[in-house]
Amino acid sequence: MPIAMYPGSFDPVTNGHLDIIKRSARMFDKLIVAVLINSAKHPLFTVEERVALLRECCRDLPNVEVKSFDGLTVDFARANGASVMVRGLRAVTDFEDEIQLAHTNHAIMPGIETVFLATSIRWSYLSSTVVKEAAHYHVDVSQFVAPCVAEALRKKAEQGNV
Ligand code: ADP
Repeated sequence: MPIAMYPGSFDPVTNGHLDIIKRSARMFDKLIVAVLINSAKHPLFTVEERVALLRECCRDLPNVEVKSFDGLTVDFARANGASVMVRGLRAVTDFEDEIQLAHTNHAIMPGIETVFLATSIRWSYLSSTVVKEAAHYHVDVSQFVAPCVAEALRKKAEQGNV
């Protein structure tokens, strides 16, 4: 079975991401969750915080490893022996960007295939942005994220940082 990589910003990880992680961890021998450091977006959580939250959420998944990276995703995939890229598709609106990314990655590195997992209906509306927006208004986000993430968001909101 090939090694798979699930790249993203994970700012912060949501139950939608965790659903994709758990399902793809069952499909592959090893899954590397790759947290993008140099995001063009201005992340709320530092890369260390994002990695720590993901590790806490994935601690019961022995074949899942969380790492951070900078630069081209396909380079990081190759350096880690991963030949499959996992991405989640929420709705048709995700499709255009995702297919462009998949084709570009394939053109740069033909040995790497992208696998799309359809989001569970339950989390199809969920994004890190929506969760941060809710936390900003002190909405309880515990139905959308793991307890450690809800607590981290609560602290950021308390400090007026969300
Ligand atoms: P990026 O900045 O690369 O979009 P994200 O952390 O937002 O990173 O998302 C990483 C991947 O997870 C993407 O493939 C995205 O479509 C997917 N994803 C985001 N939210 C959800 C969700 N609620 N359910 C399933 N997949 C999701």
